[in-house]
Amino acid sequence: MINFTNEIIIILFKINYMSGFFGVVSNQDCVREVFYGTDYHSHLGTRRAGMVFIVPGKGFRRSIHTLENSYFRTKFEDELKDFRGNVGMGIISDTDPQPILFTSHLGRFAIVTVSRLVNIAELEAKILGRKKHFTENFEGTINPTEVIASLICEKDSFIEGIEYVFENVRGSCSLMIMTEDGIIAARDKYGRTPVVIGRKDGACAIASESCSFPNTGFELEYFMGPGEIVRVSSEGYTQLRKPGNTLQICAFLWVYYGYPPSYYEGINVDECRYRCGAALARRDSVEADFVCGIPDSGVGHAIGYGNEKKIPNKRAYSKYTDTWPRSFLPSFQGQRNLVARMKLIPNRAVISGKKMIFIDDSIVRGTQLRHNTNDMRKYGAKELHMRIACPPILYPCDFLNFIESRTPMELAARRAVRELGGRDEELREYSDPDSEKYRKMVEKIAEKLDLDSLLYQRLDDLIAAIGLPREKLCTHCWDGTGYF
Ligand code: SF4
Repeated sequence: MINFTNEIIIILFKINYMSGFFGVVSNQDCVREVFYGTDYHSHLGTRRAGMVFIVPGKGFRRSIHTLENSYFRTKFEDELKDFRGNVGMGIISDTDPQPILFTSHLGRFAIVTVSRLVNIAELEAKILGRKKHFTENFEGTINPTEVIASLICEKDSFIEGIEYVFENVRGSCSLMIMTEDGIIAARDKYGRTPVVIGRKDGACAIASESCSFPNTGFELEYFMGPGEIVRVSSEGYTQLRKPGNTLQICAFLWVYYGYPPSYYEGINVDECRYRCGAALARRDSVEADFVCGIPDSGVGHAIGYGNEKKIPNKRAYSKYTDTWPRSFLPSFQGQRNLVARMKLIPNRAVISGKKMIFIDDSIVRGTQLRHNTNDMRKYGAKELHMRIACPPILYPCDFLNFIESRTPMELAARRAVRELGGRDEELREYSDPDSEKYRKMVEKIAEKLDLDSLLYQRLDDLIAAIGLPREKLCTHCWDGTGYF
């Protein structure tokens, strides 16, 4: 019998607080495309969603819903009859309510953003200091997307306004602006989040995730560059601002939060995960009966590992998606954590008496993993060897709403460093996989998680598995480097 109260208190998980957008400009009505294309971004956020269209003769028609107790499709399906238009945008968000509509000296527009404003308080003070105001209330504070729109409206054109956003925002910001003339799309100045363009006859789409294209009939045509701005019409796209030279795309896209059929910078997510798993296997001398990936993202890594090592892939865990579709539907953290724990079911028949390699994408706090190891021990696992598809996370993300841990000491690796008496100045050494400090830190984490062995991916192997030059990737959460 599970003690639910205790479970709620003690289980903490890696949760993504991301967002993803999808927009279409077409020579026909595009409501269905925007509806399904936006739905294919549901893995990036589960708290809020919105859609907006320009209905001929009526202007903007917008709807925003909370998704905390339902799906995007369920929430919006009944409203589709009220939407019409050849231009539309949708967003799935774990942060602010969007899209937002503005009437400004630049004209009427709707805006959606995939952003994190680390310096939002400073920006708020600046804007209020210029005797301006904010209307949108976002959990007792201002709405980050409204801050971005406000900055844009301080300039004489959308392009100048977006450049002004790039200059002033610390964190990241990709966005779409919809007007009567179509959509203007901009990718974050360092390209930390992706923006891709798809085409089909008489229509052009903009998306965060290219997995939204195949079933909406679009062909992936273009990966926008860092800081690039384009205007999109039903005929295609026109460049308004060239990409910058510095790309810092989040490497975690491939490791964890990207959807398997998606591509970033021309590199497929699932194929990258196979390479990650294979790289782990090549450095691993442990003999095991099988390998098991923790659903969802661990599965691709485990396929790569098993193929390289020539051992079977088995499902020691199955994900019960029928009634627990996501990890974080409920509105408060404790319940979300409980849901995440409830939906993974261990299979005693597979586990009992076996030596297992277990693969997960990453360890953030480690509490979920500790729960998994308890299950395995209880069900008679002979040996538990954990393999992690990325290096130890030593620094919280400063750029995206990605990792739930907001303070470094919530991270399993940082807690291990502290227990070993390590100091912040020594973190670089702890991140070096050839150092004695690194070896001790990993040993400490393995001990805490009750594992027979623990092996993390080396950063150089991860970078090789992704296939981009190191300087084009953000690897900050593993090595503390990066552009701010
Ligand atoms: S710090 Fe980590 S999660 Fe954040 S953008 Fe960089 S690689 Fe991605």
